[in-house]
Formats: sequence, C-alpha cells, structure tokens
Amino acid sequence: MTAPQLSVIIPVYNEEQTLPALFARLYPALDKLKLAYEILFINDGGTDKSAALLREQFERRPEVTRVILFSGNFGQHMAIMAGFEHCRGSRVVTLDADLQNPPEEIGNLLAAMERGHDYVGSVRRERQDTAFRRLASRAMNRVRERITRIRMTDQGCMLRAYDRRIVDAITSSHEINTFIPALAYTYAGNPTEIEVAHEERVAGESKYSLYSLIRLNFDLVTGFSVLPLQMFSFAGIMISFIALLFVIYLAIRRLFLVGPEAEGVFTLFGIAFFLIGIVLFGLGLLGEYVGRIYQQVRSRPRYLIQAVLESGEAGGGGQEVEQPGGSATPLASRLPPH
Ligand code: UDP
Ligand code: MG
Repeated sequence: MTAPQLSVIIPVYNEEQTLPALFARLYPALDKLKLAYEILFINDGGTDKSAALLREQFERRPEVTRVILFSGNFGQHMAIMAGFEHCRGSRVVTLDADLQNPPEEIGNLLAAMERGHDYVGSVRRERQDTAFRRLASRAMNRVRERITRIRMTDQGCMLRAYDRRIVDAITSSHEINTFIPALAYTYAGNPTEIEVAHEERVAGESKYSLYSLIRLNFDLVTGFSVLPLQMFSFAGIMISFIALLFVIYLAIRRLFLVGPEAEGVFTLFGIAFFLIGIVLFGLGLLGEYVGRIYQQVRSRPRYLIQAVLESGEAGGGGQEVEQPGGSATPLASRLPPH
C-alpha cells in the first residue's frame, strides 16, 4: 500500500448526531481534491452510537477510512495524538467532527502548504460560539501571547494542516498534557495562518465543560512557559529589595533621628519583610530548578534539522543522516521552495 498524500484526523466524542452530516460533506469534499487521502476517526470513548456509526462508515468506504477506538475518554488532544501516531499521509489535516470547521476549506490549507509552509493554522472568520467562550478565549490568547513564544491569532481553531516532519516531532514528544497546535508551532519552520469559515455546531452540544476548558488552558500555559513558577523569584527579589530600603530607613531613624519607637516593632517588621522576601526568593529559586526538571522530563525533541549540507563521502561512506523526527523522506525534498 502506498502512503497517501493526505491524512485527515477527526476526534469524535459522542457525536452520533453530527456524524451522518459530517460523512455527507467530508467525503465529497475530499474526493474533489483528486489526491490519495485517508481519513482517521478516533472515537474518544463516549457512550452513544458514534462507534457503531464509524464502523458502518468504515464498511462503506474501507479504502480511505480508518477508525481508532479508544477504550475511554482521553480528550481531544490525545485523540489527535493517536491519529498522528497512526496516520501515513505526507500532509496531515485535523478537523472537528461537529462541522464547525467546514471540510471544504481543506483545499485552501493544502494550497498554503504548496506555497512552502510546513504548518498552516487558521483563524475563524466569524466565530460561531457563545459570547462567554469568545471573551474567555480572547483573554486567554492575550495571556499566552505575553508569557509564551507561541504566536497564533486563534489558538482554539483545530482546522489545521501539518507537514509530516512536524507530526513526527509531535509524536516523539511523548507528552501527556499538551496543546497540539502550540507544540506544532514550536517546531514549524515556516508557519502561516489563513482565514476559514466557522459554522455553528450542526447538532448536539459542545463537549467541553467549563472545567475541561480551564484544564486545557492550564496545559497550554504550563506546557509552554515556566513564567508562573518564575514569578515567585521576581516577587521575592522585589520584596527583599524594598524591605532592605525600609530597614535602612528605620535604622537611620532609630540611630540618628528619633530613637526607639513603639518598642522596636517597626524594626521587627522591617526585618520580617526582608526575611519574607528571602523566603519567596528561595521558593522561586526552587521553582527555577523544578521548571528545569519539568522541561527535561517532557523530553521533547530539542530541535528539528531542516537540512544537513555535506558531501556524500564525508563521515565514511553513505550513511543516512539521523533525523530527530525519525521520518524517512529524503532531506532535499523537505527544503521549502523559495
Ligand atoms: N472531543 C473529543 N474528546 C473530548 C471532547 C471533544 O474527541 O473529550 C472532540 C469532539 O467530538 C469534536 C472536537 O473534539 O470533534 C471539538 O469538540 P467540541 O466541538 O465539543 O468543542 P468546541 O467546538 O465547543 O470547542
Ligand atoms: Mg465544536
């Protein structure tokens, strides 16, 4: 079996109401692209008839359909991760099952890849979600912009296209709590974004509760920044510094100006603040070490090589250049056309 040009990955969680409409639009949209494709559905646990519907669809179009059934609910990002691990396409597109991301946009994502981009994100033209979701998401975008190096206009939109190399880098990051679009961004050499349409959910309700949304956003922040840990160091340094000035001022007051006041309580406060500053600084320092351990245990590939230029004989006879991502495409073919 030859590798398809395109893999489409769709996480499914209790989507029995949306799946028939999805099948009816997705397959014709992909057939129209005239390329070899495969669709991977990942059924993320769930309690409704989704798994049975996926099985039926597999029997209808077995040559292009693959279904992964999870034994429980591991979350959208883990479902996509499983899709990444099993897909075979040289380009990979992720998409929601509820038709909020129109499948007809996939061609536009691929067109952007043809222009040499290895990661194509998307921005929802007019987002069709509740006002609360839109507001919360805007606030979260702003926090992320401040404290991480991830630059995405619309982090929540999952209609995205990834080059094989990026998919391989993501799958070799063996992380448990992660936010795939952000991780992909860190590995992208030439990322871009395009505008896409956004529709209302065809049926059913959002599968994200407030709790799981909050957890997801913690994954985004703690997975890509140790700033929350470092804030203790900064606070500690600031408090120590201010307290030191305070102690000096009190010492001068006591020794040269007014003598002992309130039985030395002020002096005691000055010293106490100084010590609190030291303690916070110590906590922050601990945080620095914990942060480093945390980064180490995540064991993400630390870099991705775009190309290695060397003559064939160097290093003693035609050995292959090892890629951190572990993909088998020849290096030259991955250089973006300029
Ligand atoms: N999803 C999933 N596991 C979950 C929650 C959601 O696989 O635990 C899937 C869901 O079936 C859909 C996609 O992730 O295909 C996005 O979910 P949803 O539309 O509910 O999120 P929203 O659009 O409200 O952000
Ligand atoms: Mg949705």
